[in-house]
Formats: sequence, structure tokens, C-alpha cells
Amino acid sequence: MFDTLSDRLTSVLSNLRGKGKLTDADIDATAREIRVALLEADVALPVVRAFIGQIKERAKGAEVSQALNPAQQVVKIVNEELVEILGGETRRLRLAKNPPTVIMLAGLQGSGKTTLAGKLALWLRKQGHAPLLVACDLQRPNAVTQLQVVGERAGVPTFAPEPGNVSPAPLSEGPAPQGVGDPVDVARRSLDEAKRAQHDVVIVDTAGRLGVDEEMMRQAADIRDAVTPDETLFVVDAMIGQDAVTTAEAFRDGVGFSGVVLTKLDGDARGGAALSVRHVTGEPILFASNGEKLEDFDTFHPDRMASRILGMGDVLTLIEQAEQAFDQEKAEQAAAKLGTGDMTLEDFLEQMLAVRKMGPIGNLLGMLPGAGQMKDQLAQVDDKHLDRLQAIIRGMTPAERADPKVINASRRQRIARGSGVTVREVNDLVNRFYEARKMMQQMAGRFGFGGGPGGGG
Ligand code: GDP
Repeated sequence: MFDTLSDRLTSVLSNLRGKGKLTDADIDATAREIRVALLEADVALPVVRAFIGQIKERAKGAEVSQALNPAQQVVKIVNEELVEILGGETRRLRLAKNPPTVIMLAGLQGSGKTTLAGKLALWLRKQGHAPLLVACDLQRPNAVTQLQVVGERAGVPTFAPEPGNVSPAPLSEGPAPQGVGDPVDVARRSLDEAKRAQHDVVIVDTAGRLGVDEEMMRQAADIRDAVTPDETLFVVDAMIGQDAVTTAEAFRDGVGFSGVVLTKLDGDARGGAALSVRHVTGEPILFASNGEKLEDFDTFHPDRMASRILGMGDVLTLIEQAEQAFDQEKAEQAAAKLGTGDMTLEDFLEQMLAVRKMGPIGNLLGMLPGAGQMKDQLAQVDDKHLDRLQAIIRGMTPAERADPKVINASRRQRIARGSGVTVREVNDLVNRFYEARKMMQQMAGRFGFGGGPGGGG
């Protein structure tokens, strides 16, 4: 899922890398390519339009961040807009204040409703709830048995209509079989059963058809009115592409729902449904199902899904950390000093600490695109080494840090002893500092400093 879209987006965005400044033409070209990538991934046109509009507006707007270079800023904007399209904040399942919480499942036949009922039941049971499955799909042959089977696998009882067709616990001594075969009646009676057997969540599986039809909608609406669900979840197969949007609209108008569950996200479809449904219906995606096993199921997190779609590895984490660690004032001071050759060991230490705030240096480098091929070098980047450098500088007096020239032989010995390193390591540090300072001065002379630190790419 999303592989092609990921590849496309990654390559579009990495074309921006290395650009010092993005012109409006750059942004337009990027937006065009993103648009094509989304359309190819089967994302609904109104969604694509809204998305591209936002990207362009924000990228061209005055949203300038000193911590990020232009390419990183575009990645950040695209990511944030993806999160937005997918629903923004993670929406959790709402449980009723007075149990039982009633969850009704609606969707086309084959969308994965029954499987989902089992998944949801297991998920809830693992969290200490005592769910009851309710079989209201009385149209499809075997639907009841299928629900009972997933119920058994999830370790959860199933409330079903006919005495001869129930799972061990609940209905065997249940109410009289009047209304057998009437899903609305089954749904209603399941609430009594839940109270009697102290189930705090009731999951109602309803009938689906291969296509949307009036009778199915009416039945679902009748069940809804009988049990007034706390959540009505519209279950949609992510593989059906554009059809997901029309189906979602039909269910929204016919039954109404409070949340969406995307199933079959493990499939190799293009993923457009996942990106469209929320925007088109205005209802959040609560869960994602990604396999046939009952465990292949989890809360849907828009932010995680967006980074998966963007396929930029941990670049996004890096961007976030860079923004958090970046202190503009200090960076500007440092940049100014670098150019004049006034950099002190104190500045050196501060820069090092700023970088280290972002996490272990090996991790940091590992997040950069293409880091895979740099494994050997990464193995040599040693946080312990940085620790020692830091200890050496900390072992110096402020005067020594400000002007390392005063560090004579006896001072070197004192610093080495104080920071638990050899004199040679102190010498190395001081020498390297001089070299770095000289190099910075030369670079400043040649290129001039003054832009943000940017980096990356
Ligand atoms: P229902 O008709 O809506 O109740 O759908 P079912 O629960 O019977 O599911 C239809 C088919 O899709 C079954 O073969 C399921 O095993 C399969 N299925 C359900 N959810 C998933 C999923 O997340 N991934 C995959 N690969 N298959 C699924």
C-alpha cells in the first residue's frame, strides 16, 4: 500500500534538495508533480485540489523557518497537509459513560465487517473490556457462523438469533425465540443480554450488499434506531479506490456514521481511498485493518500514516528535532563569529551541545536519506568520543575557553587530569579547533555567511 505514491513523493521532494532558494516556479512544478502522483494513487479529485492548493499557498507564503532549508520546509508542509487530510489528531473510540457502549458496523459485503468485529472484540478484550458480538447480518448465508468463529478466536461470545445457531454462552437460555430472523429485534435484545451478562461493549455486525441498495440502508437505519449506537463505524475496503468515496457518501446519507475503519491496507492498491474518505465525508478514520489475522488491526494515527505515505524515513523526525534544538539567536551569533575568526571553544561547545540535543549522533546521521550506504562511517561516529571532547572543554577555565592560546603545557596536564583523558587528547582537541577555525574563516571569506544553517540533503 502506498508504495508507488511514496516513491513518487520521495523523488519529487528530493529533487528540491540542494536548492538554496525556491522560486514560485519551483513550487508550481513540485505541486504539479505531487498532483499527478496523487491522482495516479486514485485520490479523489476534490481532495487533490484542496491539498495542492494548501501546499502552494503555504510554500509560497512567508512561512520561513530559520531551522530548515527550503527543501525541508516543503517536506514539512507536505507532511503537515497529509496529516490534516487524514484527519489531524488521532480520534479515539468513544466509550459510553453508562455501559454498554454500542458500536455498530456498517459497510458493503466483503468490506471486512465481520473480520473487523472479531478484531475490535479482541482489541477491546485485551484492554480489559468484556465485549459482546451481535449477529445482525441475517441475509448472507453463514454470516452468523462466521461471526461466531471470529468471536471464538477472539475469546468473545456472540449473540445470535436462533437457539440452534448460537455460540455457547449467551443465548442458550436467552429470551423466547419471537422475532427470530429479524435483525432489528436481535439488536434490541442484545442490549438486554449485555446488561444481564455484564458486557460493557456491544459490537453489532450488520448486513452488507455487494452494492449500495435501499433495503440494506433502511435495515441499517432501523437497527441504528433500535440501539442508538455510541459509534457507528463505516467499514471500507481501501482496495476499492474511487468507489470508496461514493460508497461512503451513500452510507453517510443513508445511515450516518461517526467514524471510518479502513480495511485491507495490507493490499497492494494505490491507497487513494485512505486519503479521500476523511476529507469527503468529514468523519474521522478510527481504525486501520491490515491483514486477515485478528491481530492485524490498530488505532489509526494520521501522523504515522502520513510519514508512511511520505516515505521519507525519519527525515521528518530529524526536521522536528532540528526545529526544537535550534536556537536562532545563538546560531546567528555563532555564524557571525565564525566569519571573523572570533570563535571560541565556548562556542564550539555550545554548537556541539545544540547538535547533541537532537539525540545520539549516530541516530541523527542514520536518519538522513541515503544513510543506509554509510553504515561503516556511522559505526565510527562515537558518542563517547563526543562525551570526551565535551569533558575536556568543561575542564577548562572560561579564560582558556575564550582564548585557547593561553593553554600551556602545565594547563594541558591539569585539564587532562581533570577530565580524565590523556594530554594527547587535549592537544588534539586544541589543534583541531584551530584548524576548524581557520577553515571557517577561509570559507566565510569565500562564500560569505548569513543564510540560515539549513544543511541536510
Ligand atoms: P464482510 O462481508 O464485510 O463481513 O467481510 P469479511 O469480514 O467476511 O471479509 C471479506 C474478506 O476479506 C475475507 O476473506 C477476509 O479474510 C478478508 N479481510 C478482511 N479484512 C482484511 C484485511 O485487513 N486484510 C486482508 N488482506 N484481508 C482482509
